[in-house]
Amino acid sequence: MGTVSEYFGSLVFDDRVMKANLSAKVYKSLKKTIDEGAKLDIGVANAVAAAMKDWAIANGATHYTHWFQPLTGITAEKHDSFITPSPDGGVIMEFSGKELIKGEPDASSFPSGGLRATFEARGYTAWDPTSYAFIKGKTLCIPTAFCSYGGEALDKKTPLLRSMEALSKQAVRILRLFGNDSVKCVRTSVGPEQEYFLVDKKMYDQRRDLIFTGRTLFGAKPPKGQEMDDHYFGVIKPRVEAYMKELNDELWKLGILAKTEHNEVAPAQHELAPIYTTTNIATDHNQLTMEIMQKVAAKHGLVCLLHEKPFAGVNGSGKHNNWSLATDAGVNLLSPGETPYENAQFLLFLCAVIKAVDDYQDLLRISVATAGNDHRLGANEAPPAVVSIFLGDELNAVIEAIEKDEPYSGTEKTKMKLGVDVLPKFNRDTTDRNRTSPFAFTGNKFEFRMLGSSNSIACANIMLNSAVAESLRIYADRLEQAEDFETALHEMIRKTIKDHKHIIFNGNGYDDSWIKEATEQRGLLNYRTTPDCMPHLLDEKNVTMLTSLKVFSETELKSRYEIMLENYCKTVRIEADTMVDMARTEIAPAVEAYAMELAKTAAAKKALDESIPCAYETTLVKKLSALADSIFDGTIELEQAVAALDSAGNIGEEADAIRDVVLVRMSELRAACDEAEVITAKKYWPFPTYGDLLFGVK
Ligand code: ADP
Ligand code: MG
Repeated sequence: MGTVSEYFGSLVFDDRVMKANLSAKVYKSLKKTIDEGAKLDIGVANAVAAAMKDWAIANGATHYTHWFQPLTGITAEKHDSFITPSPDGGVIMEFSGKELIKGEPDASSFPSGGLRATFEARGYTAWDPTSYAFIKGKTLCIPTAFCSYGGEALDKKTPLLRSMEALSKQAVRILRLFGNDSVKCVRTSVGPEQEYFLVDKKMYDQRRDLIFTGRTLFGAKPPKGQEMDDHYFGVIKPRVEAYMKELNDELWKLGILAKTEHNEVAPAQHELAPIYTTTNIATDHNQLTMEIMQKVAAKHGLVCLLHEKPFAGVNGSGKHNNWSLATDAGVNLLSPGETPYENAQFLLFLCAVIKAVDDYQDLLRISVATAGNDHRLGANEAPPAVVSIFLGDELNAVIEAIEKDEPYSGTEKTKMKLGVDVLPKFNRDTTDRNRTSPFAFTGNKFEFRMLGSSNSIACANIMLNSAVAESLRIYADRLEQAEDFETALHEMIRKTIKDHKHIIFNGNGYDDSWIKEATEQRGLLNYRTTPDCMPHLLDEKNVTMLTSLKVFSETELKSRYEIMLENYCKTVRIEADTMVDMARTEIAPAVEAYAMELAKTAAAKKALDESIPCAYETTLVKKLSALADSIFDGTIELEQAVAALDSAGNIGEEADAIRDVVLVRMSELRAACDEAEVITAKKYWPFPTYGDLLFGVK
C-alpha cells in the first residue's frame, strides 16, 4: 500500500488531482469558485465533470452519487452509474457538468417538517465545490447541499454554509476597522474529537436493544466499572489496535486528518481526534468518520457504538467541537498577539464570543439536543445543561482588570488602555485543565463540549457561527460610526465584560452548587431536556437573529423545530416498544424459568426429606415471582403510556408526555428487570450482561 504520505488522500479529488487533470484555465476558474464563491460557468463544470469521471473510473468507480446530509442526521446517497447506452449496443461512461452541479433525488421520504408536501416530492441537490469529491467503494461521492424547489434548506449543510458566510462578512468588517485591507474572508475551523465504544459483534447480536436503539435499555451495574480509572489512556488491546490501524488507513485515504487515538474513561470506550480544518469540510469528514468507524468495526467482528449513552452508570460519549476563526491568510483571530493593537483585536473577538454565548445560551443548548444526549448532560460525566464559559485564571484576571479599569497585575502595572500591552502567554497547561466546562477557552480556540457523540457537528456550528456573527455585526455597526475608534473600542470591550461576565465560570461545572448558583444567582438558563429547550428555537430574539443574518428563514426554523421533536419522540417510542418486547418475551420468561427450577429443586428436596429447610429456594422464588409481577405490570403501564401519546394535540405536547410519563415508566420497568438480573442464574439470563459487553473485547 505504500507509505502514509503516498496513500493519504488517494481517494480524494483534491487540489493535487485538480491541478494535474484540469487545464490551467479551468483550474483557475474552479479555484475562484472554491475560494471566493464565484459563480461556476457550465463549460467549466463540464470540464471538471469529465476529469472527475476519468479519475474516478481509473480508481475503480462505476457509479456516482450526490452525497448529502438530510435532517435524519445521517448522510444520504443514491447511486447512478456512469453508463450510457451507445448505438452499437455497448455503453460509454458519461458524466456531465449538469449532473455534477445538480441532482434530483426522489426525496419524499426525507423529513421536511412540512416544508415540502409529498405531491411535490422532489428536492434537489447542489454541488458544494468547497468540499472535495471522494470515492467510497465503487462510487464517486459528490458533497452536495439539499434544498426544496422553493429554495428552503432540507439539510444541514446549507445553513452551515450560510452561517459561515454571515460570520465571514461581519468579521471582515471588524478587521477593516483595524486597518486590515487585504483580508478577503474569515473562515471558522473545527477539530471534532469523537468518542465511541467498541463491543463484540457476537454479543451485540444477542441484544435487541442495541440492535434497534443503539443503547442498552437494561443491564445491572457490573462488579467492575470505571472506578479504577485504569482504562483512560491505558494500553490499547490488540483487537482494538488492529481496528484503529485499519480505521486510520481508511480515513487517510479519504484525506481525513485522523491524528490521535486513545482509550477513554469508560471500559471499551475510545476517542479519535482529527487535525482541524474548515468547518464545512470538518463536518463532512466527521460524518464520513462515523460511517467508516462502523464499517471497519464490522470487519473486525466488532460493533462501534456512537450512541451518547450506550450504558447506564458508565460514562457516555460526546464530541468536543474545537472551534476558532482565522483569516484567509491563516491568522488565528483567537490567538493573543504580540502588540497592543493585536491584543485589542484579540480581546474584541474574545468579547464577541462571550457575548454570543451569553445571548444565545438557548440556541447552543438546542443545537446539541437529542434524546440520546439528554442522558449525558448534567450527569457528572459531561458538562451540565447550563451553558457557561471557562477562560482560565490568567485571561480571567485580564478581563477583570479591564472591567474595573485597573492595571493588570500580570504585567508591570500597565494601564489598561486599548486592551493590554502584553498579554500573558496562555500555555495549555494553565488553560486546558478544566474539563467540566461546556465552553472552554484553550489558548487559541474554544472547545464546545456539549455535543453528543452521534450528533452531526453542523447544528452546533451553525448556531455558534451565527451568534458570533451577530455580536460582530453589533460591534461593527457601532465602531464604524465612532468618532474616536480607540475609545469606542475600549468602552465596548468593557461594556461586554460588564454585561456578560455572569456567563464566565472557572470552577467545577459538575458541582451541584454550581447549578444552584448559575440558575438562582446568575440567572443562567438550565434546560435539562430536549422538550424543555426546543420551543425556544422559535423565540422572537432567536428568529430575528437567524433570519436577519439569512441563516434560516422563519419557515425553515419552524420545520426544524418539528423535525427535532419528531426525532426525539420517534427515538423514545422505539426504545419503549423494544423494552416492552424484551421484558415480555425474554426477561420475564427467564425469571420464570429460573423460579421454576428453584421451585422444582425445593419440591424434590422436600420429597426426599420433609425436614430439609429450602429457605434459599423459597425466598428467591418469592422475590423472583414478585419481580416477574412488577415486570409484567411495568410492561402494561409503559404500553399504556405510549398509547396515550397518540392523543397529544401536537408534537410539543407529545414530547412533554414522553419526558414526563414514558421515560419515567421506562426507568421503573428497567429497575425491576435489573433487580431480577442480579438474582437470576447467569445461564438463564437471555442476553450478555454489562460485564460481558464492557470487558468482552480483548
Ligand atoms: P486536547 O487537549 O483537547 O486533546 P488538542 O490540542 O489535541 O487538545 O486539540 C484537540 C483538537 O483541537 C484537535 O482536533 C485539534 O486539531 C483541534 N484544534 C487545534 N487548534 C485548533 C484551531 N485553531 N481551531 C480549531 N481546532 C483546533
Ligand atoms: Mg479536548
